[in-house]
Amino acid sequence: MQHIETDYLIIGSGAAGLAFADTLIDESSAHITLVDRHGKPGGHWNDAYSFVTLHQPSAFYGVNSMALGANRKDTVGANKGLYELASGPEVSGYFDRVMNQKLLPTGRVSYNPMCNYLADHGAGHKFVSILSGAETQVTVRKKVVDATYYSPTVPSTHTPKYRVAAGVRLVTPNALAHLWQAKGERPKHFMIIGAGKTAMDVGVWLLNAGAQPDDISWVMPRDSWLVNRLQTQPGAEFFNDAIGGQANQMEAFAKATSIDDLFDRLEACGTMLRIDSTRKPSMFHFATISKGEVALLKTIKNVIRMGHVQAIEAGEMLLDQGRVPLPASTLCIDCTASAVEQRPMAPIFQGNKMLLQMVRVPLPTFSAALTAYVEANYEDDEADATKNRLCGTVPFPDSLDSYPRSIMANMMNQFHWSQDKILRQWIRESRLDGFGKIIASADPADEGKQAILLKLKECAMAARANIPKLTANRIVA
Ligand SMILES: Cc1cc2nc3c(=O)[nH]c(=O)nc-3n(C[C@H](O)[C@H](O)[C@H](O)COP(=O)(O)OP(=O)(O)OC[C@H]3O[C@@H](n4cnc5c(N)ncnc54)[C@H](O)[C@@H]3O)c2cc1C
Repeated sequence: MQHIETDYLIIGSGAAGLAFADTLIDESSAHITLVDRHGKPGGHWNDAYSFVTLHQPSAFYGVNSMALGANRKDTVGANKGLYELASGPEVSGYFDRVMNQKLLPTGRVSYNPMCNYLADHGAGHKFVSILSGAETQVTVRKKVVDATYYSPTVPSTHTPKYRVAAGVRLVTPNALAHLWQAKGERPKHFMIIGAGKTAMDVGVWLLNAGAQPDDISWVMPRDSWLVNRLQTQPGAEFFNDAIGGQANQMEAFAKATSIDDLFDRLEACGTMLRIDSTRKPSMFHFATISKGEVALLKTIKNVIRMGHVQAIEAGEMLLDQGRVPLPASTLCIDCTASAVEQRPMAPIFQGNKMLLQMVRVPLPTFSAALTAYVEANYEDDEADATKNRLCGTVPFPDSLDSYPRSIMANMMNQFHWSQDKILRQWIRESRLDGFGKIIASADPADEGKQAILLKLKECAMAARANIPKLTANRIVA
């Protein structure tokens, strides 16, 4: 067995592991060993369907030291007028460059693709090559960093929970762009199964690729609130939408008297969108979308709201609340992989182990980079108190009730960061911090922008007081 030594052993070279490694390399002289069972850096992006894109502008995704994309605005399509969204292949290529042009050339990084990390069962840290079976024992001088905790499941590597009878045509979104190669009868109907962002991407893709809205059905167990992408734009010209949007959002949190009232207010001020305005959504996963995409998705009228699919049988589908017939030659598309599994929160710093989690939702790469900055620049103390205070874990919301809790945890971290001049400065300069630079760019003589900033500050304080009431009991007034 080979034996190596390293300062940090990072398990997972997805977005989180790479964003952590990138900042740790810049902020310390540490040696890092990365282990990943994938053959390329970038994690799930290597398994994605061909038409996947980021939900958010490329400008603040990826690692801190390397820009992603050219900061252009789209001039065509459903994202027209908004900053570019990297495609899946672009994201994979970007993470390849991060590895080969940034990390490996430092001489302080060892990258081990196609290797499974074997849990430490008292025999030390080991990983095994998937191709050769060779095992490597690792002596870790500082810490083991688990960068797999928030790993999403994606359609191509996920097994549906429902039964599928022989002869049913069920594919993942990855197969759609290859349909031109399909042998036999062309699909005459498309059944999208799932209600998350993947299902929305599939709906938009099918419509743009020529499918007729009436030839599409959509199994939607839950409706979802969606973030309006207009309010996530990083350019100063979007100050009113982005920072004004933040101020309006805080006003909604400050004034809401119940969870329902909160989401009504967020919709009224343009922060949240929904596909069907006659339905009350019960899910919120920070899926981020443009009004153009929502307009396209509204054209799909065959929406099946009968709970989850239990089985797809010849000619019909069994759902929680009954059966529906499958039109002839239906192609079912499985979009039920959950990109955001609910996982119990735990401290990020745990002695000689770190468990990477979100410190600002919904930004996993900002979170990983900031955590690396804190790891490199602050002393380990009793129970890692300082580091865990600066990197409080922020839960990812699922139900509507859990959203205020996530925002409160975001605000607590923001407060702690604002009290620390050096950390504040790092955040201000970080390309992964979406809005700090727009706020800093506001001209003190611009009365309109200063009024928005004042509203943001005042409403944030009022929101801090109101959120505990929203989370303690559903009805305040
Ligand atoms: C379609 C889609 C779009 C998204 N868009 C955005 C967006 O716009 N903005 C945003 O902030 N987030 C977005 N996300 C959220 C996304 O989860 C993160 O961006 C990020 O890519 C997740 O990275 P990760 O490193 O946590 O997980 P992964 O990419 O899954 O990486 C984890 C890695 O760990 C490896 N691994 C796990 N266990 C082991 C083991 N025992 N041994 C060896 N290796 C192991 C896996 O092989 C994998 O490569 C999106 C997610 C999806 C699915």
